[in-house]
Amino acid sequence: MRVTVKIGTSSLTTDGGEVSVDAIGKLAAEVALLCTAGHQVAIVTSAAIAAGLPSLGYRPDRRPRDADLLRAASAIGQISLIVTYRDALAANGLAAGQVLLAPTDFWYRNRYLKSRGTIQALLSRGVVPVINENDAVADDEIRFGDNDRLAALVAHLIEADRLVLLTDTAGLFTADPRTDTSASLIEEIVEFDQRLEEMAGGPGSGSARGGMASKLAAAKIATWSGVETVIAWSDRPSVLVDAVGGKPGIGTVFRPRSARLPARKLWIAFALPASGRVVVDAGARIALERRQRSLLAAGVTKLDGSFAADDAVEVVDADGEVFAKGLVKWSSEDLARHAGRRTTDLPEELNDEVIHRDDLVILPV
Ligand code: GLU
Repeated sequence: MRVTVKIGTSSLTTDGGEVSVDAIGKLAAEVALLCTAGHQVAIVTSAAIAAGLPSLGYRPDRRPRDADLLRAASAIGQISLIVTYRDALAANGLAAGQVLLAPTDFWYRNRYLKSRGTIQALLSRGVVPVINENDAVADDEIRFGDNDRLAALVAHLIEADRLVLLTDTAGLFTADPRTDTSASLIEEIVEFDQRLEEMAGGPGSGSARGGMASKLAAAKIATWSGVETVIAWSDRPSVLVDAVGGKPGIGTVFRPRSARLPARKLWIAFALPASGRVVVDAGARIALERRQRSLLAAGVTKLDGSFAADDAVEVVDADGEVFAKGLVKWSSEDLARHAGRRTTDLPEELNDEVIHRDDLVILPV
């Protein structure tokens, strides 16, 4: 089995902000057990920023806001982080390889293929890739922001069978277990729905529940790409081995869609940023969702943003619900000029398909 395991800052650092040798030692020992059993494991690690802050005179729980300082902290902390991984993995007979990624490594096909090639070369030689966002040069506007999403994209990139998100809670609960004693662990999730998103605290309020909203978003990406995802408590003995072994009660398990979404569609859906929005009428929504058609100019009622041919756009219905995403064949200027027109009324040089079926993904809503 090929496994991506992500571990968060709170699981990896001491209260003083030092990298926890014990936590990484525990993880490395479990990774070694899995490798001995024939599995391949890629680690996505956080904690570079937290580990670097003390050297700049900041307490890790008092993060400065200045983006340059945070980038500088990551440049410092990433060294102690990776050295701790290298030593811990070496103590278990394994070599480590550091890979630092940026979102653009997923957007541009050639960089995407290079990143995949590097990680696969490490895995196939028994080396453990230790991956983080390239925080030291990260652009504030363009960044993963949280490593949960990065881990989901990595899981997809390397065609992992399982994604394990290790954190400081035992999984997803029906309510916040810190404030509600009736909260119980949800052991299995087969389908995403509105209730689930509410339980996770809704988008943007994730930190109140240990970042559950971002974990849910990551699980959505991963299960969409056919990767079973488990959220579990990092300190639990044998957590990684048991999560990979599918032990019942280990945490919250998200069952994958039976069909793996092709790499290209997943890349469109989750890796590419949307440059704009195309609003379509009810007939077009039905044609796209139920009849697997391409989007034609006739079904477009409005658009937002400025985009060029081959950019990614969200497809929205009249109520503002985003239900699909795709690569447009038209620029926003052409579309603004000809939206709503039938194919026979279009100038010859314009292809009648605004988004071709092969470039369109219907999203889980
Ligand atoms: N990449 C960040 C770091 O290493 C962590 C992002 C996150 O907490 O998910 O500090």
